[in-house]
Amino acid sequence: MFATLSDRLADTFKNLRGKGRLSEADIDATAREIRIALLEADVALPVVKEFVGAVKERARSEEVSGALNPAQQIIKIVHEELVTILGGETRRLRYAKSGPTVIMLAGLQGAGKTTLAAKLALWLKGQDKTPMLVAADLQRPNAVQQLQVNGERVGVPVFAPEPGNGTGDPVDVARASIEEARRKLHDVVIIDTAGRLGVDQALMQQAADIRDAVQPDEVLFVVDAMIGQDAVTTAQAFLDGVGFDGVVLTKLDGDARGGAALSIRSITGKPVMFAASGEKMTDFDLFHPDRMASRILDMGDMLTLIEQAEKAFDSEQSLKAAEKLATKGGFTLEDFLQQMMQIRKLGSMTKIMGMLPGMGQFRDQLENFDEREIDRIQAIIQSMTPAERDNPKIIDGSRRARIAKGSGRQVSDVNQLVDRFFEARKMMEQMARGGGVPGMPGVPG
Ligand code: GDP
Repeated sequence: MFATLSDRLADTFKNLRGKGRLSEADIDATAREIRIALLEADVALPVVKEFVGAVKERARSEEVSGALNPAQQIIKIVHEELVTILGGETRRLRYAKSGPTVIMLAGLQGAGKTTLAAKLALWLKGQDKTPMLVAADLQRPNAVQQLQVNGERVGVPVFAPEPGNGTGDPVDVARASIEEARRKLHDVVIIDTAGRLGVDQALMQQAADIRDAVQPDEVLFVVDAMIGQDAVTTAQAFLDGVGFDGVVLTKLDGDARGGAALSIRSITGKPVMFAASGEKMTDFDLFHPDRMASRILDMGDMLTLIEQAEKAFDSEQSLKAAEKLATKGGFTLEDFLQQMMQIRKLGSMTKIMGMLPGMGQFRDQLENFDEREIDRIQAIIQSMTPAERDNPKIIDGSRRARIAKGSGRQVSDVNQLVDRFFEARKMMEQMARGGGVPGMPGVPG
């Protein structure tokens, strides 16, 4: 699921790497690539247009954040827009204020309704509910039995018509089930209804009759994510014919391209509430738009890093550093120390590096990275006088010996740090000339 879309978006962002600033042409090219990626993922055209339009608009107009480079900025915008089209906030079940909460499932045959009924029942048990399953799919041979088998697997009772005893009417079964739930003190009733291979009038009518008879608190439309844009068409038909409150996407473990997940909310106006991603009873959970968006972007914990960077980054301080660079004197060891403390606020170096996509190949080095290295650098700089920090050029041999002694390090360590500092400064000056905001300069090692 989403693999191609993820890859395509990652390629798009890769093209932005190393850019100091986004030109109009960069934004257009990026928007074009995102558009193609979404169309290839089978996202409905109106949704694609709206999405790309929003990203473009924001990329152009949004205030440039000092904490993020342009690629990160675009990733952030795309992520937020993905969350929006996926529905924003997680939509949770609404429980009835009194009496059992009635959940009715509707959808095409093969969508995964019967399987889902049991998964949902198990999930509800985990929420300290005492659900009951209702077999109101009397059309498909074995549907009742299948629900009974599944019910047994998850330890949830199934209400079904007695074999050979007036099994005909699903509306009666559904109605009777509510009474049964009241008697047996079940607090949630899940009604599995019949599906057909395609949308037809009789199917819609039956579902509508059950709906009218039991007045569900939630009607959930169950749809196979693998059918792509057909899911959206079917959803529209059910919305017109029966109406529903939320969507359950099944088979998200398959190689669906993602079009259904990304289009359904915008087209129907109804939220995706649950997602099923496998044949196991536990392969089921609430649908979280933000987590799904992160999964689509497949950016490791890049998004967490972006968030943390924004929080930790003291833009005022960086502005001061940039100003300083632009005027005389330039970047000093004191600034170097401040920058390092900023980075420190983000967490451990190993963690920060580990969050960056593509860092997997450096795992060994990362694991061997000694966090104490930063402490040592800090100690050395703190053993310098303000004059030395301001103007490192004056740090001669005897000063180096004194600093080494003061910080409990070797003279060679002091030499190495001073060399690194001059390198970092050179880099920063180049960046400043290039017009970019120095994002995270001076990272040692
Ligand atoms: P119904 O006709 O809507 O009741 O559909 P079923 O519950 O009988 O499911 C149809 C098929 O899809 C069965 O073979 C299920 O095992 C399978 N299935 C259901 N949900 C999932 C899922 O999330 N992932 C996968 N891979 N298969 C599923």
